[in-house]
Amino acid sequence: MKKDHITQIIVASLLMLQFTSASGQVMDDLETANTCSFFGEVVPQKVTTFSSDKEAESAIKKIVDASGLVQNFLVRAAGVPNAAAVIRGDTRYILYNQHFMKETERRAQNSWASISIMAHEVGHHLNGHTLDGRGSRPKIELEADYYSGFILQRLGASLSDARAAMEKLGSESGSSTHPAKRDRLAAIANGWVRACESDSKCDEDREPDVGEIPIPDRPSTPPATQRDRGYPSGYGMLVCGCWGYNPPPLSAESKCASGFVRVNICPGFCAGGGSPYAYVCQ
Ligand SMILES: [Zn+2]
Repeated sequence: MKKDHITQIIVASLLMLQFTSASGQVMDDLETANTCSFFGEVVPQKVTTFSSDKEAESAIKKIVDASGLVQNFLVRAAGVPNAAAVIRGDTRYILYNQHFMKETERRAQNSWASISIMAHEVGHHLNGHTLDGRGSRPKIELEADYYSGFILQRLGASLSDARAAMEKLGSESGSSTHPAKRDRLAAIANGWVRACESDSKCDEDREPDVGEIPIPDRPSTPPATQRDRGYPSGYGMLVCGCWGYNPPPLSAESKCASGFVRVNICPGFCAGGGSPYAYVCQ
């Protein structure tokens, strides 16, 4: 199926989702301890789940198909704050709040916004994050964001489409469970760019806002006083990318005020093995 066709189906599905009643068939009560919720909100200990919209199921199926994997979870509408990936016994669920999804699209003014959130939750299941029962941590949240960016490019979304929901709704400050918005946007962009690199029809330079991606540790010119002494702690020497074999965690670097640069491992995988990484002054 052509990508344009898939895009049309998904956008149409999500539009229909907006008009679908929330009064689906009651399915089950579900305990939700240690849940990967999208923005780290507290999820009620027990929620009632409803049958999902056919349209939501269809959108999820497209997300999973685009990754070349088999869907291994059930999709249910539920009274969760936004969306969540949950595992109970042997059964995996994606729970989503129908009102939140509708509001997200309205606020972001972008029909990809809810798809990106669904894709994030799908990413938790496909990456096996829900198996250990530990709930959200910043590292796995960035992996799910990376997946969301990657899949949205595969489905035909632009980079700004892929970032729309996070741009509008993400939190400026990080928490113990979820990274700050700028890091999450960077992970989404990282996934999107990686997918674009392996798509001959994708031209990331045509993206109007590529130059504005808030990549963590993005090099910028520090004030002259700091430059004279060397770059300060936390200053990014090299953005996230596949720069070859992962170097030692700490190396000598005369341009940093501390004299050392450390390696920050970024979300994702490199085609030649290993992970992308960035260099940051110690
Ligand atoms: Zn998450």
